[in-house]
Amino acid sequence: MIPILDLKTQYEQLRDEIAVALQGVLDSGAFVLGPDVKALEREVADYCRCQHGVGVASGTDALRLSLAALDIGQGDEVITTPFTFVATANTISHSGARPVFVDIDADTYNLNPAAVAAAVTSRTKAIVPVHLYGQPADMDAIMAIAGQHGLAVIEDAAQAIGAEYKGRRAGSIGHVGCLSFYPTKNLGAYGDAGMVVTNDPVLSDKLDVLRRQGGKTKYFHEVLGFNSRLDTLQAAILRVKLRHLERWQEARREAACRYDGLLAAAGAPVTTPYVRPDVRHVYHQYTIRVPQRDALAEHLQQRGVSTMIYYPLPLHLQGLYRNLGMTEGALPIAEAAGREVLSLPMYPELTEAQQEEIVAAVVEFYR
Ligand SMILES: *Cc1c(COP(=O)(O)O)cnc(C)c1O
Repeated sequence: MIPILDLKTQYEQLRDEIAVALQGVLDSGAFVLGPDVKALEREVADYCRCQHGVGVASGTDALRLSLAALDIGQGDEVITTPFTFVATANTISHSGARPVFVDIDADTYNLNPAAVAAAVTSRTKAIVPVHLYGQPADMDAIMAIAGQHGLAVIEDAAQAIGAEYKGRRAGSIGHVGCLSFYPTKNLGAYGDAGMVVTNDPVLSDKLDVLRRQGGKTKYFHEVLGFNSRLDTLQAAILRVKLRHLERWQEARREAACRYDGLLAAAGAPVTTPYVRPDVRHVYHQYTIRVPQRDALAEHLQQRGVSTMIYYPLPLHLQGLYRNLGMTEGALPIAEAAGREVLSLPMYPELTEAQQEEIVAAVVEFYR
């Protein structure tokens, strides 16, 4: 079976380095926000070409605390994409604000700026673009809309650490960037972890206070905070993995290039990922668009190839968001994507032979 993702092969290469890092934390006895968290914040902020990094418990919390730091809540509207992982919108709902879903661009699957502009009202407080599959959204257009209306921009960069838009790294363009270190992400911990990166020192301070129960000094609380800290053992693991990240990103990009070539030569009715000329795509996923998607996925499964659908049902049609009153046909581009996308195995250790086997199975299906 060719898995969609192979964490085990990667761990085997890192086993000794990780053991040393973990032993260091255990010997130090500093388990919450120790030196490793501080060092990781500096290193990740540098990698994202951002001034500050604030480690939190997960990517979801990075979004949740960012919304709180920007004072977004009851009565506010936040514009976002329906074609994303549910956490993007859930955190908006938990803040008390209302998620406003608008349609996506058919080629990149990211927010369509024209649709964002059309959805701005007097209640709009923020825009949350998602850099889906590792390709940045059209940030110049989104920042221009935000600037015009005085809105905050929270980048959901959970899938896009190290991606670039016109030479700028994902997460460094909006007011804050939210990263996830969930194990399957391009930089993955061995448990939950996340970070907010920002160039705004005031927001960075606010996030630091929010993650530790709303107080700078222990037992003195200025604001209503959270308990959301990046675990120190995870920080030590992430520091080891960060040293390898660039090499892994390049391996993903090479694998994507090989898929593009193999699929183009195969002549199957497959739309390969569209990549904007002004971005660096980091291929968190390699996602194709195909006719008879479900039957192809079934065929590949039988041929020993794992695939995934990110995401089968856009958020505006989820039972959870029935109260928004949106029905089928409301956001047709996102809905079509939900019916047609299929993500193929993608990880740095994927071999050329495996990719040939995967593409041969795709070709066999359409023949
Ligand atoms: C993974 C992910 C999140 C949530 O991150 P967690 O660390 O799992 O909480 C949010 N948004 C997107 C787009 C994601 O892919």
